[in-house]
Amino acid sequence: MELATTTNLPSSDLDAFWMPFTANRQFKASPRLLVAAEGMYYTTSDGRQIIDGTAGLWCVNAGHGRREIADAVQKQVMQLDFAPTFQMGHPAPFELATRLVELLPGDLNRVFFTNSGSESVDTALKIAIAYHRLKGQGARQRLIGRERGYHGVNFGGTAVGGTGANRKLFGNIVTGIDHLSHTHNLEHNAFTRGQPKWGEHLANELERLVTLHDASTIAAVIVEPVAGSTGVLLPPVGYLQKLRQICDKHGILLIFDEVITGFGRLGKPFAADYFGVIPDIITVAKGITNATVPMGAVFVREEIYQTFVQGIENGIEFFHGYTYSGHPVACAASLATLDIYKKEGLLTRVSEIADYWENAVHSLRGLPHVIDLRNLGLVGAIELESIPGKPGARGYETFVKCYQQGALVRAAGDNIALSPPLIIEKQHIDELFGVVTDVLKQLA
Ligand code: PLP
Repeated sequence: MELATTTNLPSSDLDAFWMPFTANRQFKASPRLLVAAEGMYYTTSDGRQIIDGTAGLWCVNAGHGRREIADAVQKQVMQLDFAPTFQMGHPAPFELATRLVELLPGDLNRVFFTNSGSESVDTALKIAIAYHRLKGQGARQRLIGRERGYHGVNFGGTAVGGTGANRKLFGNIVTGIDHLSHTHNLEHNAFTRGQPKWGEHLANELERLVTLHDASTIAAVIVEPVAGSTGVLLPPVGYLQKLRQICDKHGILLIFDEVITGFGRLGKPFAADYFGVIPDIITVAKGITNATVPMGAVFVREEIYQTFVQGIENGIEFFHGYTYSGHPVACAASLATLDIYKKEGLLTRVSEIADYWENAVHSLRGLPHVIDLRNLGLVGAIELESIPGKPGARGYETFVKCYQQGALVRAAGDNIALSPPLIIEKQHIDELFGVVTDVLKQLA
C-alpha cells in the first residue's frame, strides 16, 4: 500500500482547517496525522503502526479497512448515488430500517435516519416534544439531561448535555432544560469492577425535578446508559431501572443516547438489552456504518410513531428531516456493516472477552497517579489525579505519550478512555495495556 507521508508538511498546509474539539495552535505546532488503517491498527504519517485503543472515536466497531463495506459503497455510488427521501423513496433505507428493527428490543420498531449522533439527539428531542403535543399535552416541553452527559453539539444536544466546557460560550441557548446529577463518585465507587453498587438512589432526583417543575411540563429525560465522552461514567446497579419507573409513573419519555453503546460495545446489540431497560427512544450513529460513511438513526416505539401518523389526518406528519436522511451510500455502508456484525457475531462478541479486558484495566491499579479504574463491556477508563491548578494536563500528556509510544487512546480531562474495535484479540489487549502501563510509569 502506498502511503502519503506528510511528516514535513509546510505549516501553511495545516492552517485552513479549523479542527473540531482540538487545541488548534498546539496541534498545528506538533501535528499527529494518521494516514492509513487496517484491522486494529492505524499507520501514522511517520510510518509507525499504532494500536487503535478507541475504535477511532468509538465508531469503528468492526475494525478498519473492511473490504465488504468499501465494495458495497462503490457499487451503490455507481448504481444510485443519491435520491431524495422527501415525498420520494429508494429501496435502501426501507431495507436497512427493517434490518435494524430486527436487532432492536421491545417495540422499538420505527427508524428515522439522520447523519450523525448530534442530529439523532436533536431529532429525538423534537420527536418527544411533538409527541406530547399531539397527545394534547403541549405544555410538556421541558427536557432533562444529566451533568457530564454528552449528546453532541447541536442546539438541543448542547443544552441537555452536561459538560461545562461545551456549554459555557453559548449561555442558555435553549431554555426549559434541567439536569440530573451525574453518578460518578470516587468516595463510594473507586476501583469498582463493572457496574458500581452505590448510587441507585441518585435516580430519585428525577422525582425532585418532577416536584419542582410538575410532570405536566416535562417531555423527556435523556441519558447515555454509559456516559463515554466525559470519561466513562457507569450507571450504578438499579439506576436505569429506577429512571424507567419514574418516567413511567409520570408519563415522561425516556431517551437512551446509544451513540457509543449501540452496536455491541457492551456485549449485547444495545445497552438497553444489556441493562434490561427499554427506553421509548434510542439514538445511534457511529457503529451503524462502522464509521465509513456518516449516518445516524433514531429508533422509536410503535406507539410514538402511531401517534404521529394517526394524529395528523393527512399530509406530512413530522416536519423534520435532512437532505441526506437515508442516503443511499450510507445505507449501503450500513447494510454491509450489519452483515459483518452478523457473520462475525460482533454484537455479542464482547461478552467473551469482557473478563480479560476487565483484568487488564484493573492491572493498572497502584501505578502512579491512578485514582480510579472503570470497565464495562469493552469500555475502560483510567482516572488520573489532576495536577493542582492544571486540570486535564496529565490526561493530555498521557494521550500524547501513548500516541508517541504506539497506542491511540482518548483523554477526557484527566480520564483516559479506552474503547477499541470489537474485533480485538487478547494479544492486542496485552499490547494496548503494555503501552499504557509504560506511559503511566513515566508520568511526572
Ligand atoms: N451522543 C453521544 C453519546 C456521543 O458520544 C456522541 C459523540 O461522541 C454524540 C452524541 C454526537 O455524535 P456526532 O459526533 O456523530 O454528532
